[in-house]
Amino acid sequence: MPKNFLSELTGSFATPALENPTGVMMEAAYRDLGLDWRYINCEIQPDDLKNAVLGAKAMNWRGFNCSIPHKVSVISHLDDLGESARIIGAVNTVVNRDGKLIGENTDGRGFVESVKSSLELIKKRVVLFGAGGAARAVAVELALAGVANIIIVNRNQERGEELAKLVADNTSAGAEYHAWTKQYQIPAETDLVINVTSIGLFPNVDAELDIDTDFIKSSMVVADGIFNPPETRLIQTAKTKGCTTVNGLGMLVQQGAIAFEYWTEKTPSIEVMKAALSDALDITEK
Ligand code: NDP
Repeated sequence: MPKNFLSELTGSFATPALENPTGVMMEAAYRDLGLDWRYINCEIQPDDLKNAVLGAKAMNWRGFNCSIPHKVSVISHLDDLGESARIIGAVNTVVNRDGKLIGENTDGRGFVESVKSSLELIKKRVVLFGAGGAARAVAVELALAGVANIIIVNRNQERGEELAKLVADNTSAGAEYHAWTKQYQIPAETDLVINVTSIGLFPNVDAELDIDTDFIKSSMVVADGIFNPPETRLIQTAKTKGCTTVNGLGMLVQQGAIAFEYWTEKTPSIEVMKAALSDALDITEK
């Protein structure tokens, strides 16, 4: 049997790519399973995206992630889309299936996976802050996972209303937009509160959501999409109220794990990925 020196290739196309730690957790998981796979973090300008995709196809890459600013524009270079990517209108993971490039979106499923052990989602009532790319993915996947209703709270009204309509038109969940009034009051019957805005993201770690914290009840599960730092102000406040909390590290690792499974058809170790990521980002969970 001749030796095989040909690694399988995966990677990421984004700009800026400098601070993207995904390769560290992916390669740790490849090594852990004894796979000779690589993850190449590429700095790709918008004008070069088409050639980058053609290059990946020519080199028989098994797949790649897309991040800012390519999640929407990559779609025109792909052969087909998975169901949730089609509804969300954005792709963060491309899978090479028998030479065809298929766009998937694992951001929202990653969030659903990360919250599932803390809350059974069927028929639950959700308040979601944000209406950007990640919020769209999270809202659509929560709806597909069976929540009853999602209230979208967003600073920009048009974007918020558009997301509520997207969920209501494409899934069986109810969805409505709430204007983000000063000291927003979370409805008492809410089961799950999620921040998918960039408020609190490093380096603005002291930034807080404009909400009346008296309306955070201990019965609510409170989650944050932000993973750097994992302990956002929102998570800290929710802990003092006695809530179960879910930080953004779980979402980051789980969306990567789902991409890993799409590419390799194997299940990675979440612990190995989480440890590699925490190490790379120099963060410790409290
Ligand atoms: P976008 O730029 O697409 O959206 C940003 C969102 O934040 C919008 O809803 C925007 O509101 C809101 N926002 C930003 N600043 C403020 C402010 N000062 N006051 C009120 N609202 C504000 O970003 P993404 O959706 O891609 O990312 C959002 C967050 O999710 C980021 O923090 C990112 O780190 C995190 N994320 C985490 C992932 C994970 O795996 N854990 C994966 C992907 C993202 P408006 O519409 O009014 O501008």
